Amino acid sequence: MIGSVTSFPAQACRVRDNTLAPQRRLYALRECALHCAPYGFRATWHHLVVAARIPRRLTDDLDALVRAADELQRTRELVLHRAQEYAALRRREKATGMRTPRTSPPWNSWGWSQIAYCPDPEHHPTGPLATVVQAVLDRYDAGVDVDRHCLACGIERRRPGRACSTCGVHPDGPAARWRASQIEERWQRVWHREFDDRPTPLVP
Ligand SMILES: [Zn+2]
Repeated sequence: MIGSVTSFPAQACRVRDNTLAPQRRLYALRECALHCAPYGFRATWHHLVVAARIPRRLTDDLDALVRAADELQRTRELVLHRAQEYAALRRREKATGMRTPRTSPPWNSWGWSQIAYCPDPEHHPTGPLATVVQAVLDRYDAGVDVDRHCLACGIERRRPGRACSTCGVHPDGPAARWRASQIEERWQRVWHREFDDRPTPLVP
Protein backbone atom coordinates (compact mmCIF):
# COMPACT_ATOMS: atom_id res chain seq x y z
CA MET A 1 0.00 0.00 0.00
CA ILE A 2 2.70 2.48 1.01
CA GLY A 3 4.70 1.85 -2.20
CA SER A 4 1.78 2.86 -4.39
CA VAL A 5 1.21 6.10 -2.46
CA THR A 6 4.11 7.81 -4.24
CA SER A 7 2.41 7.66 -7.62
CA PHE A 8 -0.68 9.56 -6.46
CA PRO A 9 0.83 13.03 -7.10
CA ALA A 10 1.98 12.01 -10.59
CA GLN A 11 -1.46 10.67 -11.45
CA ALA A 12 -3.16 13.78 -10.03
CA CYS A 13 -0.94 15.90 -12.32
CA ARG A 14 -2.15 13.87 -15.29
CA VAL A 15 -5.78 14.46 -14.29
CA ARG A 16 -5.11 18.22 -14.33
CA ASP A 17 -3.11 18.15 -17.58
CA ASN A 18 -5.43 19.58 -20.22
CA THR A 19 -3.06 18.59 -23.02
CA LEU A 20 -3.99 14.95 -22.42
CA ALA A 21 -7.00 13.23 -23.96
CA PRO A 22 -10.08 13.29 -21.67
CA GLN A 23 -10.13 9.50 -21.42
CA ARG A 24 -6.49 9.41 -20.28
CA ARG A 25 -7.28 12.02 -17.64
CA LEU A 26 -10.21 9.88 -16.48
CA TYR A 27 -7.94 6.84 -16.19
CA ALA A 28 -5.44 8.90 -14.21
CA LEU A 29 -8.29 9.83 -11.85
CA ARG A 30 -9.11 6.13 -11.56
CA GLU A 31 -5.49 5.50 -10.51
CA CYS A 32 -5.81 8.25 -7.88
CA ALA A 33 -8.99 6.63 -6.57
CA LEU A 34 -7.29 3.23 -6.43
CA HIS A 35 -4.58 4.79 -4.25
CA CYS A 36 -6.92 6.78 -2.05
CA ALA A 37 -10.31 5.16 -1.59
CA PRO A 38 -11.75 5.81 1.90
CA TYR A 39 -14.99 3.99 0.98
CA GLY A 40 -13.23 1.27 -1.03
CA PHE A 41 -12.66 1.88 -4.73
CA ARG A 42 -16.19 1.41 -6.07
CA ALA A 43 -18.08 3.51 -3.53
CA THR A 44 -15.36 6.18 -3.63
CA TRP A 45 -15.64 6.30 -7.40
CA HIS A 46 -19.41 6.63 -7.21
CA HIS A 47 -19.03 9.45 -4.71
CA LEU A 48 -16.56 11.30 -6.97
CA VAL A 49 -18.76 10.98 -10.05
CA VAL A 50 -21.77 12.33 -8.15
CA ALA A 51 -20.04 14.97 -6.02
CA ALA A 52 -17.80 16.38 -8.79
CA ARG A 53 -20.62 15.89 -11.32
CA ILE A 54 -18.48 14.01 -13.84
CA PRO A 55 -20.63 13.93 -16.98
CA ARG A 56 -21.22 10.91 -19.16
CA ARG A 57 -19.50 12.76 -22.02
CA LEU A 58 -16.29 14.01 -20.40
CA THR A 59 -15.84 16.95 -22.79
CA ASP A 60 -19.09 18.47 -21.46
CA ASP A 61 -17.24 19.46 -18.28
CA LEU A 62 -13.55 18.58 -18.06
CA ASP A 63 -13.17 20.60 -14.85
CA ALA A 64 -15.20 17.90 -13.12
CA LEU A 65 -12.14 15.63 -13.30
CA VAL A 66 -10.05 18.30 -11.60
CA ARG A 67 -12.70 18.80 -8.88
CA ALA A 68 -12.64 15.07 -8.20
CA ALA A 69 -8.81 14.96 -8.06
CA ASP A 70 -8.81 17.96 -5.70
CA GLU A 71 -11.24 16.25 -3.34
CA LEU A 72 -9.15 13.07 -3.31
CA GLN A 73 -5.98 15.02 -2.71
CA ARG A 74 -7.46 16.87 0.30
CA THR A 75 -8.52 13.54 1.77
CA ARG A 76 -5.20 11.87 1.08
CA GLU A 77 -3.26 14.68 2.76
CA LEU A 78 -5.44 14.38 5.85
CA VAL A 79 -4.83 10.64 6.16
CA LEU A 80 -1.17 10.86 5.23
CA HIS A 81 -0.62 13.37 8.00
CA ARG A 82 -2.27 11.04 10.53
CA ALA A 83 -0.35 8.02 9.24
CA GLN A 84 2.91 9.94 9.63
CA GLU A 85 1.98 10.93 13.19
CA TYR A 86 1.22 7.30 13.93
CA ALA A 87 4.53 6.14 12.46
CA ALA A 88 6.35 8.65 14.67
CA LEU A 89 4.44 7.41 17.73
CA ARG A 90 5.39 3.82 16.91
CA ARG A 91 9.04 4.80 16.56
CA ARG A 92 8.90 6.37 20.01
CA GLU A 93 7.14 3.32 21.45
CA LYS A 94 9.70 0.95 19.92
CA ALA A 95 12.53 3.09 21.26
CA THR A 96 11.16 2.53 24.75
CA GLY A 97 10.96 -1.21 24.11
CA MET A 98 7.23 -1.46 23.31
CA ARG A 99 7.15 -3.97 20.47
CA THR A 100 3.39 -4.39 20.09
CA PRO A 101 1.48 -1.24 19.20
CA ARG A 102 -0.74 0.12 21.92
CA THR A 103 -3.31 1.09 19.33
CA SER A 104 -4.00 -0.16 15.83
CA PRO A 105 -5.65 2.59 13.80
CA PRO A 106 -8.10 1.78 11.00
CA TRP A 107 -5.59 2.65 8.30
CA ASN A 108 -3.27 0.00 9.68
CA SER A 109 -5.68 -2.86 9.86
CA TRP A 110 -7.62 -2.08 6.67
CA GLY A 111 -5.03 -0.31 4.61
CA TRP A 112 -5.31 3.43 5.02
CA SER A 113 -7.33 3.87 1.91
CA GLN A 114 -10.41 2.01 3.17
CA ILE A 115 -11.09 3.87 6.37
CA ALA A 116 -14.87 4.00 5.91
CA TYR A 117 -15.46 0.98 3.72
CA CYS A 118 -18.87 0.85 2.00
CA PRO A 119 -19.65 -2.50 0.38
CA ASP A 120 -22.51 -1.08 -1.69
CA PRO A 121 -20.96 1.30 -4.27
CA GLU A 122 -24.12 3.42 -4.33
CA HIS A 123 -24.62 3.68 -0.57
CA HIS A 124 -21.99 5.79 1.12
CA PRO A 125 -21.86 9.03 3.15
CA THR A 126 -22.92 12.07 1.17
CA GLY A 127 -20.66 14.75 2.68
CA PRO A 128 -17.20 15.71 1.42
CA LEU A 129 -14.76 12.78 1.68
CA ALA A 130 -12.30 14.64 3.89
CA THR A 131 -15.07 15.57 6.35
CA VAL A 132 -16.20 11.96 6.65
CA VAL A 133 -12.65 10.65 7.04
CA GLN A 134 -11.95 13.30 9.69
CA ALA A 135 -15.09 12.25 11.58
CA VAL A 136 -14.00 8.59 11.52
CA LEU A 137 -10.53 9.44 12.79
CA ASP A 138 -11.92 11.72 15.52
CA ARG A 139 -14.41 9.10 16.74
CA TYR A 140 -11.67 6.51 16.63
CA ASP A 141 -9.41 8.72 18.74
CA ALA A 142 -12.28 9.39 21.17
CA GLY A 143 -12.62 5.64 21.70
CA VAL A 144 -16.14 5.35 20.28
CA ASP A 145 -17.18 1.69 20.32
CA VAL A 146 -17.53 0.58 16.69
CA ASP A 147 -20.01 -2.14 17.71
CA ARG A 148 -22.38 0.43 19.17
CA HIS A 149 -21.90 3.46 16.97
CA CYS A 150 -21.06 4.10 13.34
CA LEU A 151 -17.67 5.84 13.22
CA ALA A 152 -18.61 7.69 10.04
CA CYS A 153 -22.02 9.20 10.93
CA GLY A 154 -22.15 8.58 14.68
CA ILE A 155 -25.61 7.02 14.85
CA GLU A 156 -26.26 4.22 17.27
CA ARG A 157 -26.00 0.81 15.68
CA ARG A 158 -29.08 -1.36 15.90
CA ARG A 159 -27.40 -4.36 14.30
CA PRO A 160 -23.70 -4.82 15.05
CA GLY A 161 -21.62 -6.32 12.26
CA ARG A 162 -23.84 -4.88 9.50
CA ALA A 163 -23.30 -1.94 7.19
CA CYS A 164 -24.70 1.26 8.72
CA SER A 165 -28.26 1.65 7.47
CA THR A 166 -27.84 5.43 7.40
CA CYS A 167 -24.49 5.97 5.66
CA GLY A 168 -23.52 2.54 4.30
CA VAL A 169 -20.16 2.22 6.10
CA HIS A 170 -19.43 -1.33 7.25
CA PRO A 171 -17.62 -1.72 10.59
CA ASP A 172 -15.73 -4.79 9.35
CA GLY A 173 -14.00 -2.95 6.52
CA PRO A 174 -13.21 -4.82 3.30
CA ALA A 175 -13.47 -8.13 5.16
CA ALA A 176 -17.23 -7.50 5.41
CA ARG A 177 -19.50 -10.28 4.29
CA TRP A 178 -21.99 -8.58 2.08
CA ARG A 179 -24.18 -9.60 -0.85
CA ALA A 180 -26.40 -7.64 -3.20
CA SER A 181 -28.33 -8.61 -6.25
CA GLN A 182 -27.26 -7.26 -9.64
CA ILE A 183 -24.19 -5.67 -8.13
CA GLU A 184 -22.01 -6.10 -11.23
CA GLU A 185 -24.75 -4.66 -13.44
CA ARG A 186 -25.17 -1.69 -11.10
CA TRP A 187 -21.41 -1.16 -11.01
CA GLN A 188 -21.25 -1.08 -14.80
CA ARG A 189 -23.84 1.72 -14.75
CA VAL A 190 -21.78 3.63 -12.19
CA TRP A 191 -18.59 3.17 -14.22
CA HIS A 192 -20.26 4.45 -17.37
CA ARG A 193 -21.90 7.28 -15.41
CA GLU A 194 -25.35 6.21 -16.50
CA PHE A 195 -27.33 7.32 -13.50
CA ASP A 196 -27.88 11.01 -13.96
CA ASP A 197 -31.18 12.77 -13.48
CA ARG A 198 -32.36 12.43 -17.05
CA PRO A 199 -35.49 10.29 -17.17
CA THR A 200 -34.92 6.80 -18.51
CA PRO A 201 -36.82 6.37 -21.78
CA LEU A 202 -39.50 3.73 -21.51
CA VAL A 203 -39.03 0.76 -23.79
CA PRO A 204 -42.35 0.16 -25.60
ZN1 LIG B 1 -23.17 5.50 9.51
